[in-house]
Amino acid sequence: MKEKEDKITEAKKVSGVHGCVECGRCVAACPMAEMYTNFSIEMSPRGIIKKILMGEPAVEDIHIWYCTECNAGADVCPQGVSCRDLIRALRETAIDEGVIENAKTCTSCGRVFVAVPVENFVYGRLQEEPANLFNTLDICPPCRREMYLVRNA
Ligand code: SF4
Ligand code: SF4
Repeated sequence: MKEKEDKITEAKKVSGVHGCVECGRCVAACPMAEMYTNFSIEMSPRGIIKKILMGEPAVEDIHIWYCTECNAGADVCPQGVSCRDLIRALRETAIDEGVIENAKTCTSCGRVFVAVPVENFVYGRLQEEPANLFNTLDICPPCRREMYLVRNA
């Protein structure tokens, strides 16, 4: 298995962060400022990119768990940097390293499938929905599909 530093080097490579020119377009396009009342620049795409380029610890940082993986920042980036690919790779490294307190696991198969801060945002939006909807949100999309297939067979 690759060492943590190798994985971070790979994360930088696949996301193209070295090309970042600090224009801030990704921050303007990112939905997190609208989603979270505790939004801070540290959780923004530029904040994560800066941290990783400065060699600061990112894998252990809770801020990598707020991203929705929408990739809106990449759509507007003039340098082709993918904030989503960077954050995905950092999360995968965190999971490999056992840093999983902000990763939600499927109650059916045990796989990590969503970040806890993102889930909390979704739950907040669904307050008025029937309680049984929450049960289906505790399982990952593949297990949910299987459940619907069995139910509709
Ligand atoms: S849009 Fe691209 S170049 Fe601009 S700050 Fe974000 S990652 Fe860097
Ligand atoms: S992928 Fe994440 S960091 Fe990038 S714009 Fe979407 S929410 Fe923001």
